[in-house]
Amino acid sequence: MNLQEKITTSNRPYVIAGPCSAETEEQLFNACEQLAKNSHVAALRAGIWKPRTRPDSFEGVGEIGLKWLVDAGKKVGLPVATEVATREHVEKALNAGVDILWIGARTTVNPFAVQEIADALHGTSIPVMIKNPVNPDLELWIGAFERLEKAGLKDLVAIHRGFSVYKHPKYRNVPNWEIPIALKERLPQLPIICDPSHITGKRALIQEVSQKAMDLNFDGLIIESHCDPDNAWSDAAQQLTPEQLTSVLQQLVLRSREIGVDAADYLFDMREKIAILDDRLFDLLSARMLLSEEVGQFKREKNITILQQDHWAKMILNRLNKSEEYGLTEKFIRQLMDAIHQESIRHQVKMMNK
Ligand code: PEP
Ligand code: MN
Repeated sequence: MNLQEKITTSNRPYVIAGPCSAETEEQLFNACEQLAKNSHVAALRAGIWKPRTRPDSFEGVGEIGLKWLVDAGKKVGLPVATEVATREHVEKALNAGVDILWIGARTTVNPFAVQEIADALHGTSIPVMIKNPVNPDLELWIGAFERLEKAGLKDLVAIHRGFSVYKHPKYRNVPNWEIPIALKERLPQLPIICDPSHITGKRALIQEVSQKAMDLNFDGLIIESHCDPDNAWSDAAQQLTPEQLTSVLQQLVLRSREIGVDAADYLFDMREKIAILDDRLFDLLSARMLLSEEVGQFKREKNITILQQDHWAKMILNRLNKSEEYGLTEKFIRQLMDAIHQESIRHQVKMMNK
C-alpha cells in the first residue's frame, strides 16, 4: 500500500509525529520509542538538515542523523520521514533508507530547488509530502506537485503549514484555510495533512488548530513532539511531549466525513467558509490595532494629539465613495469605520498612558 492509500484508508487522522530536529541518537530514539506507544501515531518525523532563519541557529545534525532516524524507525516498527532541500539531501536520504521525504515551505517557494529535487527523485517511487510555500500562492504549491509528477512520482501528499506574515498577533504562520480548501478542490485525489505545530508556533494552540483541520476534513496531522520540549534545539515553544500529544489526539472530535447533497451539508460547508473569513476579519482587525498602538507610541514621543479629525474624515469619505464597489450600504460603512476608529483610539490612549 502506498502512503496515499495508507492515509486515506486509515482511521482519521493519519498522524506523523516526532521532534522538529534530530539532536542526538538518544534524544531521537527516546522520542520515537515514546511516540510509538501511541497507537494513533502512524509515522515518525525528524529534521536532519534544518532551514533556519538566522545563520547562528542550530542547522541540524546532518547526514549522521539519517542513520539514527532509520534505526529508530526499524526498532519501533514505524516508517520515518525527513525534509530534503537539495539533490545531495535526496541522495543521502534515499541511500540511508528513509521511507518518506518532505519538501519544506522554504523550498517549495523556489521552483529551481523543487526542480532539482524532482530530477534527483526521477525513477524512484518514494512518497513525497510537499508543504505549502511560505507565501500564500496556490499556483506555486500546485506547480511543485506538477514538477514531481512529471518526474514520475505518484505517491504525493500535501502538508498545510500556514503562511508567513510580519508580526501576527496569534499565529507563527497564518492558516489562510481557504488555500488548502482550494487545493482540495483543484486536486481532489491528493491527501492533505495539517501541520498545526508550524501554524501556531505555540503548544497551547495545537489542540484548537488540529480540531479545525479535522472539521475541515483534513486527512491527517503532522505534529512536533519532543521528550523535553523546553530544551529542544529548535522550535522549543511549539513542541509537545509524547503525553501531551496523546491528550491532544484523544480530545479531537471527529465528525462524519460523509458529504451528502442535502441542505444541511450545503449549509455546513457554507458556514465553515464564512467562519474562515470571519476568523480572518478578526485577525486583520487585531493586526490593525497593533499598528494603531505603534502610531500611539510615535505620537507620544512626538507630543502629537491622538485625534486627528481631518485625517479621519478623509478616511471615512474614501470608504463611503467606494460603497457601490464594495456592495455595502453607506450606513454600514459609517458604523464600521466609527467602531474601528473608537477601538483604535482606545489602543492609542493605552500607549499614551504607558
Ligand atoms: C519542519 O517541519 O521542521 C519545518 C522546517 O517546517 P516548514 O518547512 O513548515 O517551516
Ligand atoms: Mn520545526
